[in-house]
Amino acid sequence: MSRQHAIVIEGLIKFYGPVQALYGVDLEVRRGEVFGFLGPNGAGKTTTIRCMLDLIHPNGGSIRVLGLNPQADPVAVRARTGYLPGELHLDETLTVEATLRFLNDLRGGKADWAFVRRLAERLDLDLQQPVKNLSKGNKQKVGLIQALMHRPELLLLDEPTASLDPLMQHEVLRLITEARDAGATIFFSSHHIGEVEMIAERVGIIRGGKIVEVAETEALTRRALRRVRVRFEQPVDGRTLTQVPGVTLLSQDDGQTVLLQVEGAMDGLIKALAAFPVLDFETERPTLEEVFLTYYGGSGEA
Ligand code: ATP
Repeated sequence: MSRQHAIVIEGLIKFYGPVQALYGVDLEVRRGEVFGFLGPNGAGKTTTIRCMLDLIHPNGGSIRVLGLNPQADPVAVRARTGYLPGELHLDETLTVEATLRFLNDLRGGKADWAFVRRLAERLDLDLQQPVKNLSKGNKQKVGLIQALMHRPELLLLDEPTASLDPLMQHEVLRLITEARDAGATIFFSSHHIGEVEMIAERVGIIRGGKIVEVAETEALTRRALRRVRVRFEQPVDGRTLTQVPGVTLLSQDDGQTVLLQVEGAMDGLIKALAAFPVLDFETERPTLEEVFLTYYGGSGEA
């Protein structure tokens, strides 16, 4: 276990009866980073998070969270972690404030109430409302506040922006980056690729209980294929450009506009184009969403 890592998971295996949910998951999350965990429904995101808190017991592999073994010391891990479950079950007989006070007492009363009130204001949540009157989105806000209120070292957030309107989604992303700026590590699962792209330094992609990619968010989009559209003054045979390593010809209409796919650096193509009268040059980098779909589409082979 490196002191630079908040989470180290090796070979994690989990069965639910005969159903195997995790097939040897390996993950490392660095201290102080925002790590986005992406995957389709049923990929194993919630299972992985729940194993980190020993809410369910793994069948194999090892986990270290903040240097601790959650299976041996779950109370210590939970005391230093803020957890937002994917499905939140709240006592319907309490108000929001009573719910938060109850959860705070369970954790040793470390919450800062001025901070709780600020969070409630920013999320536009009335602390005096009975929980039974809350909409799904407002219940999600209670879940977020209880995860954040004791300013934990590590936040494990299972779909933090689920059920929230776009304004509130942005506020939550701000809260996450503020927690990171204050020194916390954030591990969050999401179906919103755009938000992962916005705030996560690194991304892990899980599919069918296996990690298929872990990378810097930027590197993932940078190293992906780009499309380049070139418009020439006179018709040019686009095939000549395919002699440049990494360049594939996608289409050329009358020869004046050529659509290319480029893998890796653009330098070779730009030098080759210097020999022609170029009127226009457009390049498109795929979004994280497009990259992500290459892991999920078709046979699922990346
Ligand atoms: P989602 O994005 O839909 O929340 P997920 O990535 O969080 O999905 P998990 O909830 O971890 O996925 O589920 C992983 C696999 O384990 C799925 O095949 C799911 O059907 C199965 N599974 C999860 N919980 C149970 C359970 N309590 N009993 C049986 N199978 C389960």
